[in-house]
Amino acid sequence: MGRSKSNKMIIKFISVYLFFGVLLLSFMFANSFVRGKSSYAKAFGVFCLTTQIYLLGYLLEINAGSLQDMFFWNQVQYFGIPFFPALWLIVSILYTGKGKYLKGLGGMVVFAIPVITFFMRLTNDWHHWFYSEIELQQFRGVNFMLLSKGPWYFVQVAYVLLTLFICTWIYYQRYRNSTGDEKIQFRLLLLVSGLMYIAMPFVAVNAGGIGIDYTALVLPPCILSLYLSLTRYNFLEIKDLARERVFGDSGTGLILLNRFYRVVDYNEASINFFRWFNVSINEEQLEILLADRQDILDCVKNSKTRIFHFSVEGVDRYVSIRSSDVHNKKEIVGYLITFEDVTERENLKQRLIEIANTDELTGLNNRRRFTASAEEADLRARRYHEDLSVLMMDIDFFKKVNDSYGHHGGDAVLRDFAAMLADTFRGTDIVGRIGGEEFAVVMLKTDAGKAVDKAEEFRKAVAEKMITYEEKSIRVTVSIGVAELSDEIADFDALMNRADRALYKAKNSGRNRTVLENHNQAKI
Ligand code: GH3
Ligand code: MG
Ligand code: MG
Repeated sequence: MGRSKSNKMIIKFISVYLFFGVLLLSFMFANSFVRGKSSYAKAFGVFCLTTQIYLLGYLLEINAGSLQDMFFWNQVQYFGIPFFPALWLIVSILYTGKGKYLKGLGGMVVFAIPVITFFMRLTNDWHHWFYSEIELQQFRGVNFMLLSKGPWYFVQVAYVLLTLFICTWIYYQRYRNSTGDEKIQFRLLLLVSGLMYIAMPFVAVNAGGIGIDYTALVLPPCILSLYLSLTRYNFLEIKDLARERVFGDSGTGLILLNRFYRVVDYNEASINFFRWFNVSINEEQLEILLADRQDILDCVKNSKTRIFHFSVEGVDRYVSIRSSDVHNKKEIVGYLITFEDVTERENLKQRLIEIANTDELTGLNNRRRFTASAEEADLRARRYHEDLSVLMMDIDFFKKVNDSYGHHGGDAVLRDFAAMLADTFRGTDIVGRIGGEEFAVVMLKTDAGKAVDKAEEFRKAVAEKMITYEEKSIRVTVSIGVAELSDEIADFDALMNRADRALYKAKNSGRNRTVLENHNQAKI
């Protein structure tokens, strides 16, 4: 009688212990599965869940009154038992960063035996391959099930041993190759797997004689140690924290949208960029936020990269907006929009373009830009049947200027001449230095008569101008050839040739004059 009482006490004691074990596992399941971000944390959560099912089933089995109830709860345990070793292995593999082995076939191999065991246990009544015999036994006052093992039971045991062995081996490898905190962590993980080995012979010899499942008893402290060592020395979670940090601290504005273009997350920097569009960002549909900026919306929706120009407090700002798809496997689950302030880069680009198009000495358009702008103007005038005239100019006897005042003197003359030119032909006219001391002007909406008047006005102003260079006065004159656009002139090049011809005539007929190349003359 005394012994039966003590056995009942043992069962009660084990039950309370298992009850707390289940509570602990619930906590670890929730914490890892819901809060964990890495794949191994999720796997660890499921691992806790399966062990919890196992322990809960065992708790109810040892407290059941009848063989039927015991048998039922034993069955329930098998929703967890076959799977927890596989999950332990997966946690170990993922944790040590060897997740690639689990892709495809690897994952299936790990779960093959557990799935078969699960069905074997479920259908045991028909084939008795898992438990060959089940009977209720009374031993010193407690009921317990005597389960005679069938062949598949040993397959499962072998599988458990194998997974445990692989886990131990993985930890041992890492233990050997690590230092400091990490070494401590893997020593702890090794110890945990060691505890499992100790439990096994106790189960095998049925220590105590009442069929206590020592594995179930050993699991809660094992899993708690695993949990602590994984969270205490949380190497892989650091990766996620670092990612969050990069997201938060980036100077690039980052906005994460779900696939319905609703804002899911955004960083500090993106708030600023949205201010530039006069929009305050919040977790809202992008269509609503950017209702007034269809251009940006289009750019985001078409996954394009574009540069947008804004004027922020009177300062030009350029933002590069890029939208990229976020994939989960092959499915698009959202979009990441990046906003980058490219003002400096754009300003530099503009500056380079400016330099490439400007004549260094005079600041006027160089030949390249003059020609490009003039050709455009020529096409426009033709399309809208507008007047357009060209003036070609060449400073007279410029070699003499160089000879008398030196090259610097010549340069000073060119600069002053260019300044006069820019002053006289303002606004929509296109002015350029097209050669050494050769200049050209395209006058928009101007017929030949007005162009000649303007050219004469300018020529006279040049002739009267005293250019001072090193306290000396220099006078120059200019010859100007004028041509007007007309239908029979094929293109801008031909128009320039005409003006050039007129200039040649101006030179030949004595210089310091304006000559108009008119149609009739040209045909002669
Ligand atoms: P004309 O045009 O009246 O027939 O006589 P010109 O003396 O002006 O003759 P031409 O047009 O052939 O000579 C132009 C000279 O301008 C030749 C070159 O030394 C000078 N020149 C060209 N580019 C520059 C420049 O950037 N700076 C200076 N100082 N001189 C230049
Ligand atoms: Mg010349
Ligand atoms: Mg000349």
